[in-house]
Amino acid sequence: MAESRRVAVIGAGTSGLVTARELQREGHRVVVFEKSNQLGGLWVYNPRVETDLLSLDPNREIIYSSLYKSLRTNLPRQLMSFSDYSFDCAENVNRLNFPGHEEVLKFLNEFAKDFGINELIRFNTEVVRVAPVEFGGNRWVVESKSEELSSEEVFDSVVICNGHYTVPRVANIPVIGDGPSGLDICLEIATVAKQVHLSTRSSEIEFPKLDNYENLWNHSKIDYVDESGEVTFLDGSSIHADIILHCTGYKYDFPFLETNGIVSVDDKGRVVGPLYKHVFPPKLSPCLSFVGIPYQGVVFLMFELQAKWIAQVLSGKVFLSEEEMLADVEDHSRQLEEAGTPKRHTHRLHPQMEYMDWIAAQMGIPSVDAGLKEMYWSIYRCAGEVGYANYRDLWVFDNLAKLSL
Ligand code: FAD
Repeated sequence: MAESRRVAVIGAGTSGLVTARELQREGHRVVVFEKSNQLGGLWVYNPRVETDLLSLDPNREIIYSSLYKSLRTNLPRQLMSFSDYSFDCAENVNRLNFPGHEEVLKFLNEFAKDFGINELIRFNTEVVRVAPVEFGGNRWVVESKSEELSSEEVFDSVVICNGHYTVPRVANIPVIGDGPSGLDICLEIATVAKQVHLSTRSSEIEFPKLDNYENLWNHSKIDYVDESGEVTFLDGSSIHADIILHCTGYKYDFPFLETNGIVSVDDKGRVVGPLYKHVFPPKLSPCLSFVGIPYQGVVFLMFELQAKWIAQVLSGKVFLSEEEMLADVEDHSRQLEEAGTPKRHTHRLHPQMEYMDWIAAQMGIPSVDAGLKEMYWSIYRCAGEVGYANYRDLWVFDNLAKLSL
């Protein structure tokens, strides 16, 4: 008979919600801890900005969400659905191909309502410590704080779903950055700024960029900036900047996690490890796991598969061997090294399809629908053809009608 465990899920963002659903479906008893007063995590837009704009002051008030007001999803809604629950299942949600952030939040609220997840969430309850009851054992203490109350509870397992877009990584030498947010912001600012200059270490994203903009320039990495705002690039060219905007990403951060160094965050906050397939720390598995560490690609569907895998491992349907996990972790770092992949890209799984297929195979369940995979590539092609600024409005997918979502 499948085992039922008492599981703590940290965070009620997208990954925490789908994890709670999968654990519950598998017969586990779930408590979701959420430090804010509502679900949705990153998708809860907050117009306020932090007082310390570079987020260097440890005593600053932290504004959780990193959304900007104009944000539209960078994937169509079909790729931001779950395998059996799409935007079309949710009531009162707009059917735009690339919805705004408000629609994603509504979708997540409907999802939680329809699967009875709200009842599992303890809102305004921040997890402040997660530690094994004893090393080598398989129970975990979760200490949480709500208002002035603090409490300690013991769980059979803890799944960490706390997101990783809150603690900014600020470059020593300012670099502006060309991830999707950097590009969105650049294009938006170009409508009002006299000049916008985008500086990148490397082309992290394969979209053609600043075509057709007369006031946008692409530059190499910044070499130095002097106090007057004179910015000099590595190729020797320079410009004067009134404002420097860091779009340099965020750090993984688990301030509550105590593992005696078994799990650590390295490479300036970019790598969490050792993790088997980005989910299980071999020496603490299966009682400790992470959902949502890899980035880029079709993350909602990836969260769902990771969550199903964890749920089945915990119920004893899928077995993990510590030895095999450790060997795989080593193998993975060797492969990255041999391929010349910088360590900072350890969790960048683009496009994640093979990874998702692999997880599905562990459970003997179907992986992501072939039509959705095709849709993902069609976005890429479209962005290549029409440019980053326009792909959301000009994308057409001939096979849309064939998809079940
Ligand atoms: P989050 O949404 O950050 O949720 C984590 C939750 O954990 C939060 O509610 C937080 O309050 C809670 N929490 C944290 N610490 C604690 C604690 N100690 N105790 C209790 N609760 C805690 N993905 C896409 O698929 N499409 C997009 O268009 C897209 N756009 C994006 C735009 C931006 C600007 C960014 C930054 C990311 C974007 N992403 C996009 C990726 C995004 O990360 C995922 O879509 C997803 O929402 C992340 O969900 P999460 O649950 O991992 O994290």
